[in-house]
Amino acid sequence: MSDDLFLKIISREIPADIVFENDDVLAFRDVNPQAPLHVLIIPKIHIRTINDMQQQDAELFGKLFFAAREIALEQGIAKDGYRVVMNCNAAAGQTVFHVHLHLLGGRKFDWPPG
Ligand code: 5GP
Repeated sequence: MSDDLFLKIISREIPADIVFENDDVLAFRDVNPQAPLHVLIIPKIHIRTINDMQQQDAELFGKLFFAAREIALEQGIAKDGYRVVMNCNAAAGQTVFHVHLHLLGGRKFDWPPG
């Protein structure tokens, strides 16, 4: 847990461009954006990957999606559309082991993803 970069953003040890916060969730701009809007939405507790999610975390994961909805509306991308992605472990490209929902918007996205 001590190597959890995103806990350091929650505690303000590492600065971030925060766009949304409530009791359970923090959201901030990705340092290496892949779209005009690229926000990471994280729970304020340490959960490494989706594989580590417990039954009692289900509501918290729902709150990540509800935050995505709020941010998309607030940032003006809700009507055109946006993508939310959560990578799990190496094959999916997860590099930070504190679960996070990517919210990407402001451009057209291809499917299937690379
Ligand atoms: P993953 O590849 O784990 O799904 O996504 C991790 C994301 O975290 C990447 O998009 C990466 O750019 C972002 N990231 C890594 N370190 C930092 C940081 O210190 N600050 C911010 N704002 N984003 C970070």
